[in-house]
Amino acid sequence: MSFHEKQIMLSYPENVVPSLRYQFCPMCASPLIREVIFDDNIPRVKCPKCNWIQLSSNAVGVVVVAKNNDGIAVIVPPNEDGIGFPAGLVEYGENPETAAVREVAEETGLEVKITDCLGWFFLERSTFPGPVVQIVYEAEVIGGTLKGSNEGKAEIIPESNLPTFSSSRKGSQKAFQYYLAKIKGG
Ligand SMILES: [Zn+2]
Repeated sequence: MSFHEKQIMLSYPENVVPSLRYQFCPMCASPLIREVIFDDNIPRVKCPKCNWIQLSSNAVGVVVVAKNNDGIAVIVPPNEDGIGFPAGLVEYGENPETAAVREVAEETGLEVKITDCLGWFFLERSTFPGPVVQIVYEAEVIGGTLKGSNEGKAEIIPESNLPTFSSSRKGSQKAFQYYLAKIKGG
């Protein structure tokens, strides 16, 4: 039996993605333990040797409803049952608005300016990247040339003609609800 196999594996709650189920300290490779550290009484995974503490955050994502006079920018993913809005994860240290502008450019070729934050929601998920705080932005197309990406073809479609959303794109579905609530609410 190797040294590693003799360790008692730390167990993690079900919603912790496999890539965050650390067993050994990423700094000094000591076997990790779990204990209460702060006065919040929450047991946390830590290194008994160098005091590294695991504090994983929820991921942050953005979904963008980007418009011009012709309609709303959407992507048409090739192997899904409907459309989606440009969306993606915010990089570490990146401002979410910057991420929103970047994702629209990457997925549609369009240059946008953020005009509103339509709200946010929480997506519970136990697959990569784990739970996501999803921020929904509205944006105005100010330039660029429509072009797709490996996410699929990009199109601008009049709002009244939007096809159904992909059943796997909960973020886009929710973003459209927020958008409709805004325009109907006047
Ligand atoms: Zn350590």
